[in-house]
Amino acid sequence: MAMDYGTAGSLRIDLSALVANYRTIAAQVAPAAVAGVVKADAYGLGAVPVSHALLDAGCRHFFVAHLGEAKALKPHLPADATLYILNGLRPGAEAECAAIGAVPVLNALVQLDAWAATARASGGTLPGVVQVDSGMSRLGLTPEELAILRAQPERLDGIDVQLVMTHLACADEPSSPVNADQRALFDQIAVQFPSVPRSIDNSGGAMAPDVRHGDIVRAGIALYGGAPHGPPNPMAAVVALDAYIMQLRQVPAGAGVGYGLTHHCDRPTQVATISVGYADGWPRHVSGRGSAYIGGLRVPVIGRVSMDSMALDVTDLPADLLYPGAPVELLGPHQRIDDVAAQAGTISYEILTRLGSRYDRTYLPAILESIEP
Ligand SMILES: *Cc1c(COP(=O)(O)O)cnc(C)c1O
Repeated sequence: MAMDYGTAGSLRIDLSALVANYRTIAAQVAPAAVAGVVKADAYGLGAVPVSHALLDAGCRHFFVAHLGEAKALKPHLPADATLYILNGLRPGAEAECAAIGAVPVLNALVQLDAWAATARASGGTLPGVVQVDSGMSRLGLTPEELAILRAQPERLDGIDVQLVMTHLACADEPSSPVNADQRALFDQIAVQFPSVPRSIDNSGGAMAPDVRHGDIVRAGIALYGGAPHGPPNPMAAVVALDAYIMQLRQVPAGAGVGYGLTHHCDRPTQVATISVGYADGWPRHVSGRGSAYIGGLRVPVIGRVSMDSMALDVTDLPADLLYPGAPVELLGPHQRIDDVAAQAGTISYEILTRLGSRYDRTYLPAILESIEP
């Protein structure tokens, strides 16, 4: 493929690693099905190409967050795939959701009532998911709302409940007692929805050993190579990102580098200014403590990350690696999204979803051999 000289860097998205991760999760949770969580443009990696690779691997359930995301993705999915909207419906959005055939996650009684009314007005039924709050206090029917629904089950008339779901607050810490508490409470609540399939787990829950996973797990970050729990990370890396060296300069001991001159060179230093900054989603919080790799060798980020660039101390590198245009690994075999997240004091999700649109993108195709799904 021809080099793109116009961008901040090159983002490579390995769809065969994505499919490998899908299969790793599927093996872990079988017989539960794995749904692909492709909200936020598949965590920034491209909802359409990611969904197509997952479809080819056998995935038939997809979750986005917003109606707008569902509208954009729905035409790219086959009729036998189901597209759910995690955030449910904002009042007034019901007709549009029904028109595109997406399945809203009903997160409150008022949403459930509005969806049921839409169904009854259409003279038929509409599919919906009921989310219940098992302790996270975020979205989902409260215990009080569930009691009302028990007393007035006719409120569900018109809704074909396809799934009852909840969300775990501490799934990334499998040893947290909160997980068992939430699972037990959910099991009790779910009895209220007899013979409705169940969904509990995100990536962390799905990769937790020795638990029952319900009927569908909702996997996001683990598909994209993020660690579902602390290290070691069993998932294959999906993203690689290269910046390039824009300029090299030799500065004397005592020179300051970057905005605020927060870095002072304690020796004669060769500074490489590279092509990625915080407007490219690189976290400004790695200022003075991040890393990059050139020729597989670690180099530190010095000074503050700028909007469109940042500085590296490349003094100790062999000269043949250093030239304008030389590639600089920001994500790849030496540094993964969880490493950058740790440097920035955040989570891999935030690193991925912020990568933005200033890179040229290459999708490495999934090579689907005749492996049993
Ligand atoms: C985003 C989201 C997921 C996916 O979570 P990961 O940790 O990325 O696997 C699953 N369920 C709900 C309700 C979500 O909001």
